[in-house]
Amino acid sequence: MAGKIVIDTEQCKGCGLCVTVCLKSCIVISRLSNKRGYFPAEATNAGCTGCCLCAVMCPDVVIKVFREDDIVPVQPSKKSEPGLIKDKA
Ligand code: SF4
Ligand code: SF4
Repeated sequence: MAGKIVIDTEQCKGCGLCVTVCLKSCIVISRLSNKRGYFPAEATNAGCTGCCLCAVMCPDVVIKVFREDDIVPVQPSKKSEPGLIKDKA
């Protein structure tokens, strides 16, 4: 199953939790800081399955997950909007 994520790097604090939880090692910490002075997470998306673990783990809810299929997993209650979006493109 192919997936991809998009991280709002300007809102990311660079805590690294998403990097730790990704079993496919497709998130890295940037060497360049954002406007708030944090080194944000960046998605390589190489091997991303769309498992949503990173989005669930992110304390600031700045990761959106896209998957090719139509399966929409249950989102954590802390989120005001789903982190997973069907990608039909
Ligand atoms: S959705 Fe899963 S595989 Fe893709 S970046 Fe997040 S944790 Fe890694
Ligand atoms: S868990 Fe969220 S805030 Fe922390 S590095 Fe990843 S995207 Fe940034």
